Amino acid sequence: MPKPSIPEILDQLEAHYGPQQSSWPTDPYEFLVWWHCGYPASDNACAKGWVSLTKQIGIEPQQLLAATPKKLGETLRSGGMVPELRAIRLKEIAARVQDQFGGELRAVLAGPIAQARKILKSFPNIADPGADRILLFAGIAPIAAIPSNCPHVLVRILHGRERENYGVTYREAQEAIEAEVPRSFDARTRAYLMLKRHGQELCKRTKPKCPQCPVRTHCAYFAGTLRGRSAVRA
Ligand code: SF4
Repeated sequence: MPKPSIPEILDQLEAHYGPQQSSWPTDPYEFLVWWHCGYPASDNACAKGWVSLTKQIGIEPQQLLAATPKKLGETLRSGGMVPELRAIRLKEIAARVQDQFGGELRAVLAGPIAQARKILKSFPNIADPGADRILLFAGIAPIAAIPSNCPHVLVRILHGRERENYGVTYREAQEAIEAEVPRSFDARTRAYLMLKRHGQELCKRTKPKCPQCPVRTHCAYFAGTLRGRSAVRA
């Protein structure tokens, strides 16, 4: 049986999970705020802190700068750990966006991709995966973004057990998307969301639930390709 293409694998995942929607703000500035609303940062934790912040203070730079650190920290408490530190980070973000970019972060990201990535990575807690995600979901560039907590999913399917080095695994997944998934916002956001859902539900980092997986018959990891590392199946 010929190996399916990545879009065909994504079709199978979509048939299993249904179409996926992003649950976070897509505007770059709003994403940075949302990302600091929860810790450890997860959709759930960030959503809780975001609801509290939008209700009690607001998310505009002036509103964040006007709030006292104490009040901001209390407001972020529902998002999880280190709310006081996240409050300080939010004030830093708000001050930079207001003073350095005139309140218009999105506008300064419209230039060359390398420059946009550099600007985004200058904000706290944003590395390459976060910058890629922002640029893709904001509709700025159809980058082959990969969910930061599950770059292993596509690598396992295509090549077998992921590498120990996170950066290598991320790059392998990104190269695969770049090679096979059309360079459009729709196609690449679908790929991102499907891989994220599959990584959360079945293809977990430790103990993936391979017997329940809808793409196991096409998966190199399931077929036993371990690339020198041991299996972690449930
Ligand atoms: S078979 Fe297992 S390793 Fe392969 S994609 Fe499915 S859950 Fe992941």
